[in-house]
Amino acid sequence: MDRFNLVKESFVKKEVPVEVPSGKTSDYFGELVFDRKKMAKYLDADSLKALLSCIEGGKPLGRKEADGVARGMKEWAMEHGVTHVTHWFQPLTEGTAEKHDSLIDYDGKGGVIESFDGKALVQQEPDASSFPSGGIRATFEARGYTAWDPTSPVFILDDTLCIPTVFVSYTGEALDNKMPLKRALKAVSDAAVPICRLFDPAVEKVYSFLGWEQEYFLVDEALYAARTDLMITGRTLFGHNSSKNQQLDDHYFAAIPPRVAAFMRDLEIAGHKLGIPLKTRHNEVAPNQFELAPIFGETNLSNDQNQIVMNLMNKIARKHGFVVLLHEKPFDGINGSGKHNNWSLGTDTGTSLLAPGKDAMGNLQFVTFFVNVLAAVQRHNGLLKASIASATNAHRLGANEAPPAIVSAFLGRTMTDVLRKLLELPSDTPIEIAGKKGKSLGLVEIPEIFVDNTDRNRTSPFAFTGNRFEFRAVGSSANCAGAMTTLNAAVAEQLIDFKKVVDTELKAGKTLQVAIMDSLKPLIASVIDTVCFDGNGYTEEWLSEAARRGLDVETNVPKMFCEFTKPASVEMFTKTGVYTEKDLEARNEVKWETYVKKVQIESRVMVRMALNHIIPAALEYKAKLMKEVAMAKDIYGNLEICGTELRILGDVSKYIDEVVLRTDAMKKALDEADAIADGYKQALAYHYIAESLPALRKPIDMLEELVDNKLWPLPKYRELLFIS
Ligand code: ADP
Ligand code: MG
Repeated sequence: MDRFNLVKESFVKKEVPVEVPSGKTSDYFGELVFDRKKMAKYLDADSLKALLSCIEGGKPLGRKEADGVARGMKEWAMEHGVTHVTHWFQPLTEGTAEKHDSLIDYDGKGGVIESFDGKALVQQEPDASSFPSGGIRATFEARGYTAWDPTSPVFILDDTLCIPTVFVSYTGEALDNKMPLKRALKAVSDAAVPICRLFDPAVEKVYSFLGWEQEYFLVDEALYAARTDLMITGRTLFGHNSSKNQQLDDHYFAAIPPRVAAFMRDLEIAGHKLGIPLKTRHNEVAPNQFELAPIFGETNLSNDQNQIVMNLMNKIARKHGFVVLLHEKPFDGINGSGKHNNWSLGTDTGTSLLAPGKDAMGNLQFVTFFVNVLAAVQRHNGLLKASIASATNAHRLGANEAPPAIVSAFLGRTMTDVLRKLLELPSDTPIEIAGKKGKSLGLVEIPEIFVDNTDRNRTSPFAFTGNRFEFRAVGSSANCAGAMTTLNAAVAEQLIDFKKVVDTELKAGKTLQVAIMDSLKPLIASVIDTVCFDGNGYTEEWLSEAARRGLDVETNVPKMFCEFTKPASVEMFTKTGVYTEKDLEARNEVKWETYVKKVQIESRVMVRMALNHIIPAALEYKAKLMKEVAMAKDIYGNLEICGTELRILGDVSKYIDEVVLRTDAMKKALDEADAIADGYKQALAYHYIAESLPALRKPIDMLEELVDNKLWPLPKYRELLFIS
């Protein structure tokens, strides 16, 4: 089918009706999750008790109780038509992994029965030799196994019971994204609790909360299928800007087109059934770009939910004739997609640690955590950037639209003033609630809630937004675990160190207020003019200013990964029990390898498309022009009448030559890079290949403008981006 038919068809596609369950959302919310209500209904008393103390207190589940839990789960699952079970895990590839086993087993009488026991629930050994491990399994000669994470509820997807698991080697190395995250969450709780207890002895646990905002693009699936680059790499490697893109800002928050609205509704219903509290949906800045966000939740669970949602999006989009693009930069010249990670800490007694308190001591606790977070971000700003770096997110970072490739923190005017005042005033000055004591110069005041968020700074990669920090640099296709593991672990380390300083001050006989303020002041003095930056992060001046301040300004992704094995990072990760040095080295091998493969695939696709799609079309047009010129010469005996044709012919020939030249150069660069054995060096070579891709793209985009529209083989931006 030719391009025009595809475009015509996609224009007339109607929305697919959505099957809305009867009743209210709250009636079917969590229907497909084995939550507390179902536990109470389907488990016997002993199994229920054992499971709850496993979830809440980390107590291991005995074999007998595990059998009991499995029995209850099976009964519930079979009522929903479940026939298969899988351990669902998050290996170091993108996305999730699952290997389905049917529930059947021989019954000993020549037939089969449905069977599912505690052993199958708790542990499995997938043949996982093909998952990347950076050599961990080879080094330790250990096989990997998946183990149930009871803190994340079991759920049903279609006909399959999914059991969220961690994936570890027998010698204890984490082979996935979930295990390190869980370790970091424990570390931050362990480090934060002793500080919270200075304020409230009842605190026993501190939770990390995550609310992700998932940005994505939708394209029509028929047009997608006609673009090899989109299908294979998730982004367009060619494509001239559309005359209209986002300059009118008419897409942001605009009415949602019906076909898209139907997709969103379907997605929400599926998410709600799985207990995912999807809350917000809207159009984003770029044409055909959208966002969805849930109500925030505990970080491990919220991250699992994000992984499930990404899978659901892919599946449900197809039903509506769309393909969802989770790539960070599917289209040149318009905004890319991120996944803001809204992050905060809170106690099991219900106190938010990054929101203003109810009294002066509450505010002191807030400032304590606020400043320590900033100190952690300062100490590990390069590492935090490395935690969100990838071949695909590289297109966003520093690309003058998304957060710059420098991790700084935005505080807003109020909190900047508070910190400056705290530095100046005596340490026993209480931090009052604004307005309570009237206006006075000698007061430090924090409003009860930050109502005015107008000075929110969209250019900051790590912004305080009133009761949380928003880590905005995370990529749309990323697993949030990468960023969340590093952030929580870095904060844990900082809190451990801070507590030691406070303890010394307290031993010296200072009051809690003075001991804390005296410990905070050096941190405030250090962060306020270093990692804190409220200006425009896109400017050239910021780049040089940040370098002067000692912030990491590296833009080369393979080099960024070296941050993970620097002594300060190794110390932080080992101290918090998140990664061993070997883990970090192995993970870097995986990161470099993934980087290489991504760029390798892109450059191969680019070369092949240039040679198979673009050049033939351009040559056809060139031949057409030449025929016209030859004809004119035959008729008139000279070329005077062909000025325009000759000019176009000259340009087309020039760009064709350039494409051929660039593809040759790229093929050579690829051969050279592929011959490099060392993972890091190869990734560096591929970084330069990645940087050379635009040079091949440019003459092709110029050809797209020149070549007869009828001959152009690929759907164009204006067609891909304005269909819904
Ligand atoms: P915006 O686009 O204005 O930043 P959204 O409403 O799109 O806001 O998303 C904000 C996200 O932050 C939601 O997922 C929300 O639940 C989450 N969030 C709100 N408060 C907190 C908090 N204290 N900790 C973590 N996440 C939070
Ligand atoms: Mg946000």
